[in-house]
Amino acid sequence: MNPLRPRADKAIQQFSFVDALVAGLFDGAFDAATVASHGSLGVGCGDALDGELVLIDGELFVCRADGVTPAEPDAAIPFAEVARFEPTFSRALSGPISEAQFEALVDGLVPSHNLFYAIRVDGEFASVTVREAVKQQRPFRGLAEAVGDQHEATVEGTTGTLLGFKGPDVFQGLSVADYHLHYITADRRFGGHSMDFELTSGTLTIEAYANFTLRLPQTESYLGAELDDMNADEAIRAAESQ
Ligand SMILES: [Zn+2]
Repeated sequence: MNPLRPRADKAIQQFSFVDALVAGLFDGAFDAATVASHGSLGVGCGDALDGELVLIDGELFVCRADGVTPAEPDAAIPFAEVARFEPTFSRALSGPISEAQFEALVDGLVPSHNLFYAIRVDGEFASVTVREAVKQQRPFRGLAEAVGDQHEATVEGTTGTLLGFKGPDVFQGLSVADYHLHYITADRRFGGHSMDFELTSGTLTIEAYANFTLRLPQTESYLGAELDDMNADEAIRAAESQ
């Protein structure tokens, strides 16, 4: 039996959805303690796009251009995707492995592209390029314009963890189609949304999920938003790949 068969009782827990970000709904809607209580591994973004979130071993961190800090328990979070990570697959990797080679490798391991997977790589990285979203001012512009402000940085020769999700293409807009990975160094001083990397060596772990639970925001901005005329696919692809 493929070790990446999902367990019937396990789900991805997502807070808000990506199209809401595309529409500029950056107001934090969930507190950090609630988000962290729903998983041990995850990704997300800070209030008003103030940084990128990494949930690792149950601890939630905010990665900004000037460094990484633990999230305050009452910090407001506009978007997050988390899971109680209990990997059923593990493999040692020896590089160099580029991002494209890594994705092809995982694509070859999973039993289907139509399920969700949580992915984690602990290892040595020859290089990692991340972006951190930069805090936006109200009134918010859409995500496509906001990512123009993002900070980018590359670190070389770090030990750290790459983690996040691979999702089905049909969930683009609710979630992120295909790979969405964030990086954080082992010393918890650098991190962000992964844009490119080269892995030297490490351990890959994966768990599959066939359930997806979505909690909607209840902020005034969300309740009053016009979301019926969106073509967000292009904006998401642009934002995720920039
Ligand atoms: Zn991200």
